Amino acid sequence: MRNRFQPRDHFAAGAQYIDGRLVPGTSGSGQDVVDPASGRTIFTYELAGPADVDAAVAAARAAFPGWSGATPGERSDALHRFAAVLAERAEDFAQAESLQCGKPIKLSRGFDVPGTVDNTTFFAGAARHLEGRAAAEYSGDHTSYVRREAIGVIGSIAPWNYPLQMAAWKILPAIAAGNTIVLKPSELTPFTSLLFAEAATAAGLPDGVVNIVNGAGRDAGERLVTHPDVAMTSFTGSTAVGKRVAELATGGVSRLHLELGGKAPFVVFDDADLDAAVHGAVAASLINGGQDCTAATRAYVQRPVYERFVRDVAALMETVRLGDPFDPATDLGPLISHAHRDRVAAFVERARATSRVVTGGEAPGGALADGAYYRPTLLADVAQDSEVVQSEIFGPVLVVLPFDSDDEALRLANDTPYGLAASAWTRDTYRAHRATREIKAGCVWINDHIPIISEMPHGGYKSSGYGKDMSVYSFEEYTQVKHVMFDNTAVARKDWHRTVFGDR
Ligand code: NAD
Repeated sequence: MRNRFQPRDHFAAGAQYIDGRLVPGTSGSGQDVVDPASGRTIFTYELAGPADVDAAVAAARAAFPGWSGATPGERSDALHRFAAVLAERAEDFAQAESLQCGKPIKLSRGFDVPGTVDNTTFFAGAARHLEGRAAAEYSGDHTSYVRREAIGVIGSIAPWNYPLQMAAWKILPAIAAGNTIVLKPSELTPFTSLLFAEAATAAGLPDGVVNIVNGAGRDAGERLVTHPDVAMTSFTGSTAVGKRVAELATGGVSRLHLELGGKAPFVVFDDADLDAAVHGAVAASLINGGQDCTAATRAYVQRPVYERFVRDVAALMETVRLGDPFDPATDLGPLISHAHRDRVAAFVERARATSRVVTGGEAPGGALADGAYYRPTLLADVAQDSEVVQSEIFGPVLVVLPFDSDDEALRLANDTPYGLAASAWTRDTYRAHRATREIKAGCVWINDHIPIISEMPHGGYKSSGYGKDMSVYSFEEYTQVKHVMFDNTAVARKDWHRTVFGDR
């Protein structure tokens, strides 16, 4: 079945969600949403401008006392109801996500949507488990304890590659902890964040707890980061924009959480199950068209198995079916836009002079010629200092390099500015443990690459940022810790007053 989700009908009232309802933007600038599979405009809306951001922050601020004052159990119940509404509307979410991103429908149905429902139930549980150190008489004369408190209005900014999951990763821990939020998704992909906010309202979350402003980065994004009533900025996107956001947020001393770009290494030792590594490399480099911050991008393969790996990966890549995102048989859809496809293609063109294009390296023609498609591409014999090894391409392109020793493999794996994720492939537990210790990344998989789970943290080292999404670690980031100290002596002249009054 072709898509049944009709954005023009659904968002007839506007593509901003402020204080519990859909409203139009007031920036005066229109934004087209383009179906990347066909190049056709499927929806046009008015972007949010600074005035819309101000209205959304005001709504979030007004909702904060009530929501942060609710009991953990009340917030948990609301999140459980939210998860139920998301599950009921799962097919709408899957279709809207595939429509705006060009994502294969089996990916939206099998990963993005169930992952989001699972995240919601996880944070419904986490809401009731605020942890702190024990209350005790540490000084002898006082009782001390720790309160974990909500921070206030959170301003969040998200990218276009997993719009629904990014909305969930930003919104859920923040509101589970009692904050209220204004999320600015990428202006290219407004639909599923709006559906997510509508589902929150349908589940009974108070108006103003979740607000969505679909606006441009320089305009709505910068207003959100610098708004005086925003107590914390949580940003996911490229390292370049993350640096700009960090500069802006530092001016106001607000809290900052940055989830930035990645360039994950995929290290294959000579004792690995090569069939598993080949399948893992193809799946992990092509998931979501390679537009995944943790995607396998740099394969380092020990020399005895290098040529076989290159040959088998290329052969498997050639079996991947490009096509209509709404066809359940499609493995790989278009990239997010024609401009992004051209950027990916330009990386490959520049690499031709110094590397071997084993397969791919072109856009398909025929029935797919109008879409932003690009063939799965394998570049071999690439130099470590080349652009395709050091920079984030964010497309279906895997580069592969040989290595000789374990020391060399781990050195090369760490030799980029990024540190978001990595994998090592070996049957040797000593090699595996060494890789997990020495690779500088927020996640290291052994004999797999990509799976994520709600209970475990996701976040970067180095230029991939700081702060964690998912798990109790993210929940804790959206709280602030207060030390409360009670005097137990009821004595007017405390012993420590000596330091001021001497022996009087
Ligand atoms: P991007 O950095 O171009 O944009 C991200 C968001 O920032 C968008 O909403 C954009 O409108 C906004 N923005 C742009 N300029 C801004 C400004 N000056 N001030 C405030 N906001 C601004 O990224 P993208 O192209 O949308 O997404 C791809 C990038 O996201 C990749 O680098 C990818 O690795 C990264 N990413 C990281 C993670 C992670 O968890 N670390 C997850 C997904 C994507």
